[in-house]
Amino acid sequence: MENMEPYSDVNVKGLVYNMQRFSVNDGPGVRTIVFLNGCPLRCKWCCNPESQELKPVVMFKEQNCVGCGNCEVVCPTGASNLFFPGKIDHSKCICCGKCVDVCYHKALEMSGKWMTVEEVMIELYKDRTIYRRSGGGITVSGGEALVQHKFLAELLKTCRSVGWTTAIETTGLASEAVLDEIIPLLDYVMMDIKHIDSDIHKEFTGVGNEQILKNALYISHLAKKMVIRVPVIPGFNADKKTIKGIAAFTSFLHNVDELHLLPYHDLGSNKYGMMGKDYEMAGTVSPAAEYMEELKAIVEEEGLTCKIGG
Ligand code: SF4
Ligand code: SF4
Ligand code: SF4
Repeated sequence: MENMEPYSDVNVKGLVYNMQRFSVNDGPGVRTIVFLNGCPLRCKWCCNPESQELKPVVMFKEQNCVGCGNCEVVCPTGASNLFFPGKIDHSKCICCGKCVDVCYHKALEMSGKWMTVEEVMIELYKDRTIYRRSGGGITVSGGEALVQHKFLAELLKTCRSVGWTTAIETTGLASEAVLDEIIPLLDYVMMDIKHIDSDIHKEFTGVGNEQILKNALYISHLAKKMVIRVPVIPGFNADKKTIKGIAAFTSFLHNVDELHLLPYHDLGSNKYGMMGKDYEMAGTVSPAAEYMEELKAIVEEEGLTCKIGG
């Protein structure tokens, strides 16, 4: 790869489960979002459950399965069961991919691929002209991208060396050492604040929020530009008092004047079935557009610029 500075190691590998080109909602300009596996949270509404573990996941599309049993025959661990064709026992699966190779009806597919920084860069390079013209670049998302911080650091350094802007979508849950390593490599940080109450945060995400709130303040001092994003989830944080509390907290961060409200959607709910899991938020209805406007006004009362979506 031409023009790369020697300090970035393009041979480091990371587990990538998706790359989405031509995004205009995830940072300045036109961007490619690189989605990395691994997340310390387990949000009940997560629309990318296949991203949570730091390992590839076999996804099963039941509607394509003809019950041929090929997957069970080749499986070395008994994770694929003849009595339940295509249904994977993920606790036994070693992600070898043999079942996917023999599923000729495309009922099985592997989510997550180990890639070097150089392999990711080759994909990104296709849009280099668009990045340059629009001031865009790469946005790293997850899962929680900070989990794979060694890979992330090399990827960001390499992108910066060719002049692309760098952004992250993060929960902010990482050690200070990781934040010290990564945040200075970013032009734009989009950090989620999901709730101010730690017990409620833990009930819906699996972890308390003490470290996240502490890190929000820390990141706000390190980041060149930071925006807070709030997924608005009915039954969890969509009430006006909670949103006001998050906005008030945001207004005290250093140099942060923008908050985005992201209305709940259930677009990833079908993936739970493909992984043999239940979707706990089934039946949850997205907040109405008029109600989102009311929440926006509450955020603006705290002196912040507020955007719905993005
Ligand atoms: S990926 Fe390998 S271990 Fe997992 S279910 Fe398929 S064949 Fe079995
Ligand atoms: S190989 Fe594919 S089509 Fe055949 S039983 Fe397994 S999942 Fe179904
Ligand atoms: S932080 Fe994001 S990726 Fe992690 S579980 Fe929550 S919604 Fe999913």
